[in-house]
Amino acid sequence: MNSQNLRVRFAPSPTGFLHIGGARTCLFNWLYAKHRSGKFILRIEDTDLERSKKEYLEEILESIKWLGMDWDEVHFQSKRFGLYREYADRLIKEGKAEQKDGAVFFKYQMQRIEIDDLNRGKIIFNELPKNEEVIIKSDGSPTYNFSCVIDDALMDINCVIRGEDHISNTPKQILMYQALGFSIPKYAHVPLILSPSGGRLSKRFGATSIREYKEQGYLSKALANYLLLLGWSPKDNREIISLQEAKDIFDIKDVNKTGAVFSLDKLEWINGEYIRSMSLDEFTDLAGSYLGEKSFLPENLEREEIKKIVGLFQVRTSKLADLITSMKPYFDQEVIYSPDTQDVLEKPLVKELQFLIEGLKIIQDFTKENIEQGFRKACEDLGLKLKNLVHPVRVALTGTKHGAGLFETMEVLGKDKVIKRLNKIIQYWRMIQDHGKI
Ligand code: GLU
Repeated sequence: MNSQNLRVRFAPSPTGFLHIGGARTCLFNWLYAKHRSGKFILRIEDTDLERSKKEYLEEILESIKWLGMDWDEVHFQSKRFGLYREYADRLIKEGKAEQKDGAVFFKYQMQRIEIDDLNRGKIIFNELPKNEEVIIKSDGSPTYNFSCVIDDALMDINCVIRGEDHISNTPKQILMYQALGFSIPKYAHVPLILSPSGGRLSKRFGATSIREYKEQGYLSKALANYLLLLGWSPKDNREIISLQEAKDIFDIKDVNKTGAVFSLDKLEWINGEYIRSMSLDEFTDLAGSYLGEKSFLPENLEREEIKKIVGLFQVRTSKLADLITSMKPYFDQEVIYSPDTQDVLEKPLVKELQFLIEGLKIIQDFTKENIEQGFRKACEDLGLKLKNLVHPVRVALTGTKHGAGLFETMEVLGKDKVIKRLNKIIQYWRMIQDHGKI
């Protein structure tokens, strides 16, 4: 194959959203085309007129673009029914196909077929269970194998990269190429993506649409980076690699031969790395528009305010949806203590917190440095270790035991809210002391 005219295609059926597996197949095709200065063709396999939906098609196209890919040509199989019929008629005329009950059957004699798969090496097919295959259904629509062969041939596709679940289709398609006198493309069947338990991806494990990942606040570049590593890695084993960088070195023959296991933890880690590498301004814009779309931010909130709050969480955020949980205590009127704070709630520190409040009140400039100083001084005077006060104060202020640095949190909340919330937990403790457990 002349590397100058490599033509590959991604051929999704718009009968569902674009999932991880399809997106990765798309990515491998795209990268291979880019690496070889070839053409990447998008072919929409919408022959099933009932199950194909505009909504799915739009999501597929949007997701491909969102992930950072583009295409050189796009074709729709639903507009090519006439062509498939023409080629079916030709096969009938040549005695290689037969029309029965309205459907057209391709007749074949199976012989040994050998392919040199670019990814898996030699694959030999010796037999097929039948000796005929429907190519045009009685409703006039072509079957997948037939339209795929006609289009791959007419679109000059010279390398077919697809999931290994299609291996069983390959010999049938090759027989059709031969019957029609078309030249056979190269093949690369890439291994499937497996769930952590080893089976196929399920709804619980990664079989989620690209759109849902976007909704969760995964960044397009991070998701593309992760998809890339599902079965491929650069020679230096770098984990953070952009599509632009991958383009220069990607080769389909380097894709692993065994299934890649999907790991949400790894995806989250990569996403977190992309988030951490942003400037605070970039992150503020990104988080601001994400949270704005989710109508999470209070109206008229100044950008500076958003920046202060998201700044607390940037290093701790693995996906933008996490911000909704971590930022909630900043906007809620009342703090809601989460169930795992019971141990803190059951140990009243009324006097200690009252003492701390007095110390905080006199801080003029409520910055984290000054707060820390006041806080340490209060602990010293009370003869307490810092952590003995840090935990209850965090619970009082945010309702949770974990979160951003306490002094930064206090600065962002501001003196009034801090004192109000400390008083609220004091009140709560008093109630327990007076009335026993509530
Ligand atoms: N429409 C088929 C699919 O989505 C395409 C398979 C192929 O690449 O040949 O599985």
